[in-house]
Amino acid sequence: MTVAGPAMRVLVIGAGPAGMRCAERAAQAGLEVTLVGAEAALPYDRVALGRVLSGEAEVPALITHDLRRLRALGIGYRPATPIAALDRAARVAVTARGEAISWDRAVIATGSRATRLPLPGAELPGVFVYRTIDDVRAIHRAAAGGARAVVIGGGLLGLEAAASLSAIGAKVTVVHAVDWPMERQLDAAAGALLARSLGATRGLRFAMPAATTAIEGSAWVSGVRLADGRRIACDIVVMAVGVRPVTELARDAGLAVARGIVVDDAMRTDDPAVLAIGECAEHRGVVCGLVAPALAMAEVAAATLADAEAVYAPRPDPTALKVSGIAVWSAGEVAPADAEAVTLTDEQAGRARRLWLRDGRLVGAVLYGDTADSPFYLDLISSGRPVAPHRATLAFGPAFQDAA
Ligand SMILES: Cc1cc2nc3c(=O)[nH]c(=O)nc-3n(C[C@H](O)[C@H](O)[C@H](O)COP(=O)(O)OP(=O)(O)OC[C@H]3O[C@@H](n4cnc5c(N)ncnc54)[C@H](O)[C@@H]3O)c2cc1C
Repeated sequence: MTVAGPAMRVLVIGAGPAGMRCAERAAQAGLEVTLVGAEAALPYDRVALGRVLSGEAEVPALITHDLRRLRALGIGYRPATPIAALDRAARVAVTARGEAISWDRAVIATGSRATRLPLPGAELPGVFVYRTIDDVRAIHRAAAGGARAVVIGGGLLGLEAAASLSAIGAKVTVVHAVDWPMERQLDAAAGALLARSLGATRGLRFAMPAATTAIEGSAWVSGVRLADGRRIACDIVVMAVGVRPVTELARDAGLAVARGIVVDDAMRTDDPAVLAIGECAEHRGVVCGLVAPALAMAEVAAATLADAEAVYAPRPDPTALKVSGIAVWSAGEVAPADAEAVTLTDEQAGRARRLWLRDGRLVGAVLYGDTADSPFYLDLISSGRPVAPHRATLAFGPAFQDAA
């Protein structure tokens, strides 16, 4: 007869989507799981924050796991508990309040933090980043009543924030460093179509290309100064200029960190008792910036914790601009330096496509305006089938391939 020993104690640090998923799967595998999160909220759907900003949803609708569900899963949940240090030799984590939590295995899922440009005035009240429920609550409060808002950054997230702000009556100007928005995904012509469409349907204004040199104000932000001398008067500023993996805890604990915390295919760091997942992790030189790979890593980590074989295999996860009525879809590698680009733009119809080929295979695609063919391109990227013979017709989509 075998006698079951005490369950392995797993500490998951960070209660974002990756940490929550890993905690859930590890608990289902019978491990004793404690989940600690720096944020005060219950675990929530970060991807849907724009719906709270635009007033389409209330915060409770975003909560993915309430206390009852966490209890039913057997997860010990500790909100508002940032971990300040990880002692790997003693297998103890120390909270910011100085409390020690013992573990047999630790999973670091500390995600990313939004970049705050180091500009004069960047710390003024009224200047926000866009990452957490607290950020969104604060932006929403400050923007109510027809505020003038400047969003710095015209990428996916900046445009989403801008559209949400305009939905609650703010007058929004997007300041973007390049001549057109979403320049990583779209070429100049499609970018111009997008800017025109967001202007017509959402009332967004664009200052492009424009570099912000200072944020002005005394007790509260009052304007944004651009490099060409222009000043845009505003009541709030939202910075949406990128994110950076949160790696200090791992670095201070002596784990290997490059851009993210370096992990192997099983999500182990260079200490096999410590795993890392989600946006804080770096797998084969890549740090992910989307929720699907973060969740896939969480599944692999949970299997590793339960001593099952699992290997993380990155996929060409698709993403879309979440602004209703404006269709932009992308998958795979967007604008890789070593690939050949094929571009098709139909300005009359308001449609554009960009495809990237390497070694005769499709490695990335962006569709603007009409995204109905997205499954076709996703399949080509995922399967890695040779497409070189169809290169001339590839941008026209599957219907044309059948006819050809
Ligand atoms: C507004 C918005 C919209 C988005 N839309 C999309 C989309 O459409 N599609 C898509 O794929 N992705 C989208 N993303 C990105 C997506 O949210 C991330 O890919 C995902 O949240 C990554 O999950 P994660 O668990 O790795 O990290 P995070 O979600 O960043 O979670 C990490 C958690 O760890 C906590 N933490 C950090 N340090 C500590 C510590 N020392 N102790 C304890 N806790 C700590 C943080 O407070 C945070 O709660 C969006 C992001 C935002 C902000």
